[in-house]
Amino acid sequence: MATRLRLLDDAAWVSVNDHRAAGASEVWPVADSFCACPLAWLAVEAFVDVGADGRRVDARVTGHCVSCGEAGTTPWLPVGRVTDDGFAVTTGVRRSRRTSPRSPCRGEP
Ligand SMILES: [Zn+2]
Repeated sequence: MATRLRLLDDAAWVSVNDHRAAGASEVWPVADSFCACPLAWLAVEAFVDVGADGRRVDARVTGHCVSCGEAGTTPWLPVGRVTDDGFAVTTGVRRSRRTSPRSPCRGEP
């Protein structure tokens, strides 16, 4: 099953199979390496890349840590998983992936 990924509205939204799955202004707890905080609270500003590996959907995002203000672009972080019923958004602490998804895509013009 192919997962259809798109970035919408100037990369403010991730669309998975034509449903909005994640959006800018969400705040994600990120466990490693974004900034000096043991747990970064990342305010998402835009999505740089989104990719799927089977049912797994990951993204690289730009944003800033709400706690310390550090800003930048993250490595690949989990967004969620495609399920038989739709899409299950990742909840809880997100940890960066060591590998890139097999089929990354950038926003379409
Ligand atoms: Zn921080």
